[in-house]
Amino acid sequence: MEVIETIKKTRAAIAKARPGGRTIGFVPTMGALHEGHFSLIKAAKEQTEFVVVSIFVNPTQFGPNEDIDKYPRPFEADVKACEKLGVDIVFAPTAEQMYPQENITWINVEKVTEPLCGKNRPGHFRGVATVCAKLFNIIQPDKAFFGQKDAQQAVVIKQMVADLNLPLEIIVCPTVREKDGLAISSRNRYLDAEQRKQAALLYAALQEAELFINAGQRKSSELISQMEKILRIGKRIKIEYISIVDAKTLDELDEAKGSSLIALAAKIGTARLIDNIVLDIE
Ligand code: AMP
Repeated sequence: MEVIETIKKTRAAIAKARPGGRTIGFVPTMGALHEGHFSLIKAAKEQTEFVVVSIFVNPTQFGPNEDIDKYPRPFEADVKACEKLGVDIVFAPTAEQMYPQENITWINVEKVTEPLCGKNRPGHFRGVATVCAKLFNIIQPDKAFFGQKDAQQAVVIKQMVADLNLPLEIIVCPTVREKDGLAISSRNRYLDAEQRKQAALLYAALQEAELFINAGQRKSSELISQMEKILRIGKRIKIEYISIVDAKTLDELDEAKGSSLIALAAKIGTARLIDNIVLDIE
């Protein structure tokens, strides 16, 4: 496995790997790798022949009130984990490599960036879409792997790839959870013991909605109030949003129907956590 900092060397290493029609798989990450990331790397190993993982804490997707300096960077452990999983290249650029001059070209995906996290994180998806477009241009993968955990991000990237005819396929992999259902996230480390216990209520609330849907309830307002009841059990949980939207367009639904995304965001202490489920409803 090679660990490469520069765009030039990464391009050269990938050019060397490509002949013979070898397919390139790409897993973009911000590091602090955990089982969620590992599942994407494993999927890439299964579906492609040469796997590139990027580790880059992208400054352009952080808001002014979001502390990028506090983002965990256990780089050596990340490299070891990639090596163990059989990754071929870790691309770990500096911010200067990725943004050598003032960046004034941006990818603004419309509509699907507006609801859910878009409301509270202005500019976030612009930064995500732009850095992904840059990474796709550098690595030129056949397939890129994203987690369902960040459902809106996956929708935004799929939309960008389709709208700009980018020559790669986006594969979305299921959310990996802890035993009690909490979606694994690098932000979980900010929770103290009590907060961590309460964090399991996020998935419990999503499951409650599924239960009510299975029992015939379709009204979003009813489903959301049932979920709020569960979340209110956790006194430290501050709900940011609970929404039921079309899984593809992210348009809000008054009634759950078709492929419905039930998504929520909440703050527990300093950690902002998100989770979701997708249900196919007849
Ligand atoms: P991040 O490093 O947080 O930018 O995440 C990199 C990728 O890992 C994104 O595509 C995330 O959706 C994905 N990911 C993060 N947590 C999980 C999880 N618990 N299960 C599946 N994928 C995840």
